[in-house]
Amino acid sequence: MHQPAVRAGWRGVIEEYRRFLPVSEQTPVVTMLEGGTPLIEAPRLSERVGAKVWLKFEGLNPTCSFKDRGMTMAISKAVEEGSKAVICASTGNTSASAAAYSARAGIKCVVLIPEGAIALGKLSQAMIHGAQVLQIKGNFDDALELVKEISGKYPITLVNSLNPYRIEGQKSGAFEIVDALGEAPDYQFMPVGNAGNITAYWKGYKEYNEKGKAKTRPKMMGFQAEGSAPIVLGHPVKDPKTLATAIKIGNPASWKQAEAARDESGGVIDMVSDDEIVVAYKMLAKMEGVFCEPASAAGVAGLKKYIEKGYFANQSSVPKVVCILTGHGLKDPDRAIKVAIQPKVVEAKIDLIKKEIGL
Ligand SMILES: *Cc1c(COP(=O)(O)O)cnc(C)c1O
Repeated sequence: MHQPAVRAGWRGVIEEYRRFLPVSEQTPVVTMLEGGTPLIEAPRLSERVGAKVWLKFEGLNPTCSFKDRGMTMAISKAVEEGSKAVICASTGNTSASAAAYSARAGIKCVVLIPEGAIALGKLSQAMIHGAQVLQIKGNFDDALELVKEISGKYPITLVNSLNPYRIEGQKSGAFEIVDALGEAPDYQFMPVGNAGNITAYWKGYKEYNEKGKAKTRPKMMGFQAEGSAPIVLGHPVKDPKTLATAIKIGNPASWKQAEAARDESGGVIDMVSDDEIVVAYKMLAKMEGVFCEPASAAGVAGLKKYIEKGYFANQSSVPKVVCILTGHGLKDPDRAIKVAIQPKVVEAKIDLIKKEIGL
């Protein structure tokens, strides 16, 4: 398989894909060499589902989620435009990324997060990078409304994915996949929350296709969690619920664009249950050795579900599938500890240890 060593000499998303991005020589590039993440073959998962599956492991970005791809652009452009402060609402990863890139740029960062609803790893990141963290008594959708209003009235730049530069940066994920495979995959499975990422990937695939870098474009297969599936249900969800906190969103900002990605590509936006997410999450960790956060596993849960429904049954060749693993498992260690086999406490005696191991 053609897979260049994308990481060697990697210069970050803006320098690598400068000609596809709205930057100029004057743009001060704020980067931590994000992107260039591995596209990992998944042999056991491939065998199980009867497709050729790769995992785009976005957990290996500087702040351990794909948000860094968009944040390098959003923060660079904010600095270029003379902004001294940024603000965002977040289910966790946007705040972690905004906090880190703002620290790097030396500007102020304010983050609004839903109280008690973000994973510990993400909260720790926003705090240690020195962002002003406001935990609101409300959910992500409430937080987003508040930051939209504030950034609309005051000189503080919004860095949620409503900021078009976020989408521009995030489309680089699609470029990397095509660069690594030498062509577009047939299908891309991914989680959908605020729907910025599916919007960005589709934009990236379309641009590469138009520029002749890829002959085809994948079908976009997006998955929401059952308890927070507004796009699937066709109406906003007032009190979204799911253990996959990164996609616990009841009124996605890029709703229309996500539907366009689905319809233009001939894909689907569907939902998976929390149980299905946890099964996929554990399976990736145990079968492929890749530890992603629960939300990231929603795309893989969707793949399993669609294979079981016979979705690929009539294909003439084995379909090429890429699953986007959006964030690292260490973001949410509590979940891993809750769902895995608990460690046993044993006396420090060789006989007892041997007996436990079965020696
Ligand atoms: C932000 C995020 C998502 C959802 O992405 P959207 O662009 O909001 O659809 C999924 N998984 C992880 C880990 C995230 O951080």
